[in-house]
Amino acid sequence: DSLNIYPDGACLALTQKLAAKLNVDPDGIIFANGEDNIITLISKTFLNEGEEMIMADPSFSSFEISARAMGAKVIMVPVRPDFTTDLNAILAAVTEKTKLIYLCNPNNPTGTISTSTEVEKFLDKLPDHVVLIFDEAYKEFVDDPDYPEGLDYVRAGRNVLVSRTFSKVYGLAGIRIGYAIGHPELIGGMKRIREAFATNRLAQIGAMAALDDDEFLEQVTAVNREGREYLYQEFERMELPYVKSQANFMLVDTKKDIRQVFVDLQREGVIIRPAFIWNLPTWARVTVGTKEQNKKFIAALEKVLA
Ligand SMILES: *Cc1c(COP(=O)(O)O)cnc(C)c1O
Repeated sequence: DSLNIYPDGACLALTQKLAAKLNVDPDGIIFANGEDNIITLISKTFLNEGEEMIMADPSFSSFEISARAMGAKVIMVPVRPDFTTDLNAILAAVTEKTKLIYLCNPNNPTGTISTSTEVEKFLDKLPDHVVLIFDEAYKEFVDDPDYPEGLDYVRAGRNVLVSRTFSKVYGLAGIRIGYAIGHPELIGGMKRIREAFATNRLAQIGAMAALDDDEFLEQVTAVNREGREYLYQEFERMELPYVKSQANFMLVDTKKDIRQVFVDLQREGVIIRPAFIWNLPTWARVTVGTKEQNKKFIAALEKVLA
């Protein structure tokens, strides 16, 4: 009954709640209409024509799209043969014109992470004129103890931004809300150009509730962990190569033309992400579902591949 009233543009209650939960400066938090909106905002704020942004290849396409829209040059650095992000090669690609580097951790679509040791070494060598963005859309699904929390580097005063979303582990993709955390000076620049009411009233209420719901988070991550193990086992039984994942999806090599497998799977009621778009013509990115969904997918895949 309050939907006739504009939302709180500053997201005050939500900002205070998140700041307290994460022990960060509330002035260093910005909310937007999904993390995708945050990514666009980062490009608008920091990139000018002719400047450079560096990202892994493959990684999340919004980084590239929003940077190109600003007339920036996008440098794509191929992942290593084991699908991990090649931080040494990214460092080697830094020039005087580099403004932003995106580290999607865990990386979408590979599901791999960069470790604390790697990230620490990388940050120590990164010149001051570069902002490093940790995209942590899938951080809650990680169980590798070597995972570096981007927020530790924010708290240490480094030139970094952390971007996160309520769309994935909290299951709120439909109401659109995400945020970035960083030094108040970096976040302040983004706030100056963000549209006033970027996050709607329902989204703010949903996010407030989600932050209190640790039980749901534990339940979702447990189902995901079991689902990952189940899919690994099945892929091994079917002798299909796959990439171990720290997220809620994984890459698997069907060893057949993925365009055809993609179409055939849809006839069985299953949609996967065909990885030819990342130059992996026989691979799929598969999202971990519920136990029943995972079983349905494996049965469909076996049928299609036979
Ligand atoms: C899904 C996703 C996002 C964006 O999520 P929103 O729904 O826009 O909040 C950002 N980064 C990565 C890597 C994602 O997979």
